[in-house]
Amino acid sequence: MQIAIDGPSGAGKSTIAKAVAKKMNFTYIDTGAMYRAVGLYMLTLGIDIKNEPDEVAVHLDEIRLSIRHEADGQHIFLNGEDVSDKIRTPEVSIAASNVAVLPAVRMKLVELQRILAAKQDVIMDGRDVGTYVLPDAEIKIFLTASVEERAKRRFAELCEKGAQTTYEDVLEDMKYRDKNDSSRAFAPLKAADDAELVDTSGNTLEESVERISKLICSKINEKRNEKECLSE
Ligand code: C5P
Repeated sequence: MQIAIDGPSGAGKSTIAKAVAKKMNFTYIDTGAMYRAVGLYMLTLGIDIKNEPDEVAVHLDEIRLSIRHEADGQHIFLNGEDVSDKIRTPEVSIAASNVAVLPAVRMKLVELQRILAAKQDVIMDGRDVGTYVLPDAEIKIFLTASVEERAKRRFAELCEKGAQTTYEDVLEDMKYRDKNDSSRAFAPLKAADDAELVDTSGNTLEESVERISKLICSKINEKRNEKECLSE
C-alpha cells in the first residue's frame, strides 16, 4: 500500500508520517531528505545553484544516495556518508529548494523514490508524491497551515535544537521555499485532485498528529478490509 502526504514545509508532514508508520507498520520515506542531500553536495562543491544550474547537472551523476531505516528513523547516506544531521541546516534548506526546481534532479530522485515504494508498504512525504511520484497511491493527504503558524512551529523546533536563528528569518525562508516549490514548472507543490485537504492552522502539532493519524489509520483499515474482501 502507498500513502502520500504532501504539503508545504512546516505543515507537520514528517511528524505525522512517522507516527502513522510506527503504528501501522509502514516504512516512512522522507523525500525532502533526498533533495537536501543533493543540495548539500552542491554546496560542498561551492556551486552557486541558482546561477549555475548546468554545473549542478554536470555533478549529479557523482551522487549516490541510499537510505537505511534505524530505530531512530530514516538515515540518508550521500556517497556512503551518513548526512542525516548535516542536511538540517537553514543553508541546506534553501539549497534543497533551489536544486528541487531542476528537472534533472527531480528525475533522478523520483526514480529512487518509486523503486523504494515498489518494494514495501510506504508512507511517503514531500511536495509531489500524490501528483507525480505515486499518482496511484491509495491514500493521499494534502496538509497545510498558515505560513506564520508553520514558521512558529519550525522556529520552536530549531530553538529546541539550539540553532541560532530568529522567527523573522525562519518566516522569510519559509516564504521563499513556498514560492519556489509552488511556482516551478515541473512537478510543483500542489494538492492532487483526489487528495484529502487538511488545514491544521489553529491546532498544535500534537493535535494535528492525533487528528490526521486517526484519519489515515481508519483509511488504511478500510482499504485493507476492501482488499481482504476482494481476495476472498
Ligand atoms: O521536506 P523538506 O522541507 O525537508 O524538503 C526540502 C526541500 O526539498 C523543499 O523545500 C522542496 O523544495 C524540496 N522538495 C521537493 N519535492 C519533494 C520533497 C522536497 O521539491 N518531494
